[in-house]
Amino acid sequence: MNKQNRLLELPEGKNRLLLHSCCAPCSGDIILRLIESSIKFQIFFYNPNIHPKKEYLLRKEENINFAKKYNIPFIDAEYDTKNWFKITEGMEWEPERGLRCDSCFDMRFIKTAEYAYKHGFDLISSTLGISRWKDIDQINRAGTKSTSPFSNIDYWSINWRKQGGSQEMLNVSKNERFYMQEYCGCVYSLRDTNNWRMKNNKPKIEFGLKFYENLNKETSKDK
Ligand code: SF4
Repeated sequence: MNKQNRLLELPEGKNRLLLHSCCAPCSGDIILRLIESSIKFQIFFYNPNIHPKKEYLLRKEENINFAKKYNIPFIDAEYDTKNWFKITEGMEWEPERGLRCDSCFDMRFIKTAEYAYKHGFDLISSTLGISRWKDIDQINRAGTKSTSPFSNIDYWSINWRKQGGSQEMLNVSKNERFYMQEYCGCVYSLRDTNNWRMKNNKPKIEFGLKFYENLNKETSKDK
């Protein structure tokens, strides 16, 4: 991407951004673009959907290390899995991008907006939308809804995939040799991905083994 095209501008009147991050691969290039654009921001890591805890810690540590490298403040929010299971109860067999994902996005955005309100941020966004496996409209709906109770906070519905964002996300992930997650995150997406793999004669997911440097052409159902 042309260097000039990478520059971002915050929406008019906004100057304190809280960026919800789901993982290092999705946030890597977004973080770099924000830095290049001299935009001040903090990272908010709130993802109690990720299961099991081993995978949660792998994703979080990778994200912390990248933030440290660039001195970006990293807010490590709680891993309240009990609440996540409670809000998704009854939706265990929903497909990805369905009702369970609505609740999962709502939960993460609401917490982000509440934190932003308590700590004086006037804008929130999320790295969730950069993944081509996700429904960007579904994410933007949850983001917009989360800030509606707060008159002074907006949701920045920027499309991170545009202007080569998807490709740059991969480039940064390979350069940084990020840990590569192979399913969306929750126990149900893990189950469904493994079921798909078994049907297609592929081995089940093993945690902590795959890194972007080893990326091969084998198709992966997620991420
Ligand atoms: S598939 Fe992904 S977005 Fe949907 S509920 Fe599971 S972790 Fe959340």
